[in-house]
Amino acid sequence: MKNNNIQKKVRTRIAPSPTGDPHIGTLYQSIFDYAFAKQNNGDFILRIEDTDRDRFVKGAEENIINAFKWAGIVPDESPSQGGKYSPYRQSERLYIYKKYINELISRKSAYYCFCSKERLAKIREIQIKNKVQPKYDKYCLNLKKDEIDKNLEDNKPYVVRLNVPNDTDIIFDDLIRGRIIINTKSIDDQILLKTDGYPTYHAAVVIDDHLMEITHIIRGEEWISSTPKHILIYKAFGWDIPYFAHLSLLRNRDKSKVSKRHNNTSIDWYREEGYLPEALINYLILLGWSSPDGKEIISMDEFVRKFSFSRVTKGGPIFDIDKLNWINGVYIRQLSLLNLKKLIIPYLKYKDIKSSYLDSILKLTQERLKKLSEINDLISFFIEDIDIPKDLIYGIFSINDVKKIIKNIILIIDKYGINEESEQIMREYALNNNYKIGDFFMIIRLAITGRKASPPLLDTMYVLGDKKVKERLSRLINT
Ligand code: GLU
Repeated sequence: MKNNNIQKKVRTRIAPSPTGDPHIGTLYQSIFDYAFAKQNNGDFILRIEDTDRDRFVKGAEENIINAFKWAGIVPDESPSQGGKYSPYRQSERLYIYKKYINELISRKSAYYCFCSKERLAKIREIQIKNKVQPKYDKYCLNLKKDEIDKNLEDNKPYVVRLNVPNDTDIIFDDLIRGRIIINTKSIDDQILLKTDGYPTYHAAVVIDDHLMEITHIIRGEEWISSTPKHILIYKAFGWDIPYFAHLSLLRNRDKSKVSKRHNNTSIDWYREEGYLPEALINYLILLGWSSPDGKEIISMDEFVRKFSFSRVTKGGPIFDIDKLNWINGVYIRQLSLLNLKKLIIPYLKYKDIKSSYLDSILKLTQERLKKLSEINDLISFFIEDIDIPKDLIYGIFSINDVKKIIKNIILIIDKYGINEESEQIMREYALNNNYKIGDFFMIIRLAITGRKASPPLLDTMYVLGDKKVKERLSRLINT
């Protein structure tokens, strides 16, 4: 396949349809489009494909733009920023599609089709009965000029179809998958212009990608079977054919296409849960590409430098939230206390907590935080009163032992305060009395935090302060 794009400035695009919440798959795709463009000092474009009016959702475009902004994937041109190839919203380009589709008709690469729904249903029924692939039978391709003119004059509803040649191999070299050959036997005479005057995706995408000088089309694998139609349109116009790269779709654990039922597909959900954009991007990079040095923590800048199509995942990567949580934790731990605090405040339900107290709590908790929204749960025992899990405690030692231990600990704290020395004395006390160290400290942890896991015990006690620690411990004596 001849390709003249080699000398052109690299231009890639993401072309979401505003049909719902901004999808994680869109972000996934865009990291490749973005990285490849930036690696080649090219442009990355955001175009809104809103020609399917039945699926249009108000506000969806704004949400997509905001989601990209949050993720730090900033396009060079978009509906909101504009650019040399404006407009970037397909519904504002209808006159352009009309003009080009008319040109295809005059080149005999496309034709008017006036067939009624009933006729189409009938031929489909017959084809299914005869076990042949349902396809339009090209009836209208052979209409005489005067028939066409009359129908148009009578305002008979019509669509425009692509005249797909019979039994021809369409060949293209996918940058990820290698050579792909699809025979036109399996390709219907694609509708390019619908009765409502809107182009279909197939017409609009090719016309826009050409006019916007897109050199590399990096998109989801679900478009592979459409690519031959697109190539036919490029050829019909005599336009250069861009490079294609089809990414594997994200999968659920059961290998089905990532969906709401199994995973959260909205980018907004990840933002609301408190995933850091850098961590989410890192995770998506990892899903779709393997770093030559096997590194798992990788920034967008590094990805831009190291990206190559040859390392893009070919099998459907499985979305694994546990891995994302781990990566998010790594990024949270890298934050300065000041930045962590800034990010945490919107999630914090304890609004009137003293700033210095919050600092001490965050210092201890940062290590354990996997996503920002967990903060209230993780720190509640520092701020709210707790229920002491007596059942758990008495499952470790007898009531009498617990009382004895607690009394001693209070004495130690009274005498030495909360510090390394007192911790050492507690430890010695446990050893001298043959208490298992782990169990011994576990009852203290349970008594002062109400839970089995917490930040390091001494630090936790220190931040809670003598008063609160002793008050919580004493509840076990007075029962
Ligand atoms: N509007 C299409 C979509 O929503 C774009 C497909 C493409 O990238 O060609 O996925």
